[in-house]
Amino acid sequence: MTRDELRKHLNFYQDLGVDEIYLRPISSPDSVEGATLTATTAIPSLAPEGDTLLKIRQDIGDDCRRCRLCEARSKIVFGSGNEQSSLVFVGEGPGADEDAQGFPFVGRAGQLLTQMIENTASKEGIPIRRPDVYICNVVKCRPPENRTPQPDEMEICGQFLFRQLMAIRPKAICAMGSTAAKALLGTKEGVTKLRGKWHKWRDIQVMVTYHPSYLLRPYNQDAKREAWEDLKKVLHFVYD
Ligand code: SF4
Repeated sequence: MTRDELRKHLNFYQDLGVDEIYLRPISSPDSVEGATLTATTAIPSLAPEGDTLLKIRQDIGDDCRRCRLCEARSKIVFGSGNEQSSLVFVGEGPGADEDAQGFPFVGRAGQLLTQMIENTASKEGIPIRRPDVYICNVVKCRPPENRTPQPDEMEICGQFLFRQLMAIRPKAICAMGSTAAKALLGTKEGVTKLRGKWHKWRDIQVMVTYHPSYLLRPYNQDAKREAWEDLKKVLHFVYD
């Protein structure tokens, strides 16, 4: 990374509200002032010391314009639920209902998610309800026509997601759908291949499963059963 690229990168994090970062030592002992930094430069610890969800929300601001998704949104949808939860669900982005209300997963897909969490927990004898977990999305503003967020939008807004996850530090994350899986695991593999197995984001366990809106399609009965299996695994891992 050149000095200019590094400066832009740091400015970007500063804009997100990250005021302090540290660099691990550059591996080459010959590196000198002004030289091109090697690819081993570690950047950065994403979360400022003592980061909180409140601070992250304040850093986003009331009229975030960091990416083009600001253009058509009504409300920024930050996240909801238990801020100390051991389990965080991550979806793709707000839909029409979420955009109107400012809360994640409040439409039909959200109702299905609530049912999935509460019915599975109840059947498995795990005493949790939806408000006991935390729920958020990769991007905080609704993509027009519910299109998939584009890579630059995911990268820009994804930094807030990463800070949310670092602030909550759950025992596990459930990534719902390919956008969440891509943001957290940096993979192009589809959900069918990734689901049902444990992965890692930093040192936190990640289970990938289908997005509830995919499960609402009538021909996806097998996927529904698989999603229930995935959820069972997650709930037992976190709450047993
Ligand atoms: S999607 Fe995220 S980065 Fe883009 S405008 Fe909304 S809050 Fe800002």
